[in-house]
Amino acid sequence: MVIKQEDMHLPVDYSMIEDNLFLGNVMAAHDLDVMRLIGTRRVLTVRNVGIDDSCRLPDVQYGHIQLNDTHNDDLLTHFPRAHRFIDNGLSQSQPVYVHCRMGRSRSVTIVVSYIMWRDRIGYREAMRRVRQRRPIARPNSGFRFQLKLFEAMNYSFDPLNHQFREYLLNRFLYVCQKRIVYGIVDTDQTIQHKFFAILQSTAIDDDQFGCQYQCARCRSVLFSDIQVLRYNKCFVFTEPTAWLSANVYSQVSGSVQCPQCLAPIGLFNWRQFCRIKFTTDSIGRQSSLRQLCVFKFYLNELIY
Ligand SMILES: [Zn+2]
Repeated sequence: MVIKQEDMHLPVDYSMIEDNLFLGNVMAAHDLDVMRLIGTRRVLTVRNVGIDDSCRLPDVQYGHIQLNDTHNDDLLTHFPRAHRFIDNGLSQSQPVYVHCRMGRSRSVTIVVSYIMWRDRIGYREAMRRVRQRRPIARPNSGFRFQLKLFEAMNYSFDPLNHQFREYLLNRFLYVCQKRIVYGIVDTDQTIQHKFFAILQSTAIDDDQFGCQYQCARCRSVLFSDIQVLRYNKCFVFTEPTAWLSANVYSQVSGSVQCPQCLAPIGLFNWRQFCRIKFTTDSIGRQSSLRQLCVFKFYLNELIY
């Protein structure tokens, strides 16, 4: 049985947000009478555990976004999949039930983001609509931030948006640090792939993203301006790059080598907050005018 002991006391609780779109708690999701009453054809679960097999109806499709309800959890990158799942139901006039544990934070975030995306309206208006039907709706502060960021990006992912890059970077590093330093494996293992898929789409090899930085020894391109977080005379702080070898993601600390000529170009240390610390003798920075200047580079502690 997947209903946890601590949930058993919860009353069945759900709200109709609009025609065919329902939002509520875990007990309603496991109550076959309720699911039949509202004619549910799709259930989207937004919590760690999915719907128990014994509480599934044969003609219902079940979707699952697995995550906790803390301000560090990433819901934003799950939006497109959730929106498709809900929209496929509503566009065929199929009742859709979205739930988390209480129907207050995680599932509300998904429903609000869906309404924002579909109707092209801002966070405040979408939230107002949902709260009218479900007054307890209250996404946690991290999810509220993600909804506002989604609005700022015009309801899609904009890899050139610096706030979005910083968001992905922080989630990615948070998951890495937890796993590498503390041995805690996050339930969401996909953030690393998403991080590279979204961010590296704007990576090197394209002048529109500014200067490129090269290995001083072999001149292979290492990263470009858009990946730089900050720099000073001696240091360059950047996002992690796709070419980093696997040892960077499996050891607490170590050194980084140029992927081409294996020259030592940096250090990393996940224990320090942290992230990655590179040191190197030198790299070249090639401007869009193709002027080459060389200076010391420490790809270091991706601060923030
Ligand atoms: Zn090299």
